[in-house]
Amino acid sequence: MKTSYFSKHGRRKFKGAISIAVGQPKYVVVKTVYGALAPSWNLLQDYRNDNIDEDEYIERFKKQLAKLSPSVVHQDLSRLAGDSEPILLCHCGTEDFCHRHLVAEWLEEKLGIKIPEEEENGITRAEGYLNYPEQLDMFDIIRMRTEDEQDELAKEDE
Ligand SMILES: [Zn+2]
Repeated sequence: MKTSYFSKHGRRKFKGAISIAVGQPKYVVVKTVYGALAPSWNLLQDYRNDNIDEDEYIERFKKQLAKLSPSVVHQDLSRLAGDSEPILLCHCGTEDFCHRHLVAEWLEEKLGIKIPEEEENGITRAEGYLNYPEQLDMFDIIRMRTEDEQDELAKEDE
């Protein structure tokens, strides 16, 4: 089982695709929808209207998930995907806050399985995001220099 997002696949029909989003873009050919893993309409509206922040979204969505049986959900998704690997889809890109990361974390934790984001192997999830390792830039490297290294550079300048 993996997660991904609609626009990554465009109009291409692909096996195992299961929407867990509220609604789908018009261009999408994903026929299989598993609504139990979509955020409730109320939750989505509250979030879109800025009535709640991400922390509250996470709290409410986790309560929604807690009403489901992770093993039944996993079984349903496997059956829906048939012979293929289930790919759970939402609208949000890889940089965005998305409920699919909360779904994946929930199934991973409850079932002791791994559900990677498609083509993002080794990237973990946290707080509803893909958790990319921090990109270091030159200034980070300069800050990481030890005092000895700084002394040495100072000497070279003399
Ligand atoms: Zn999403």
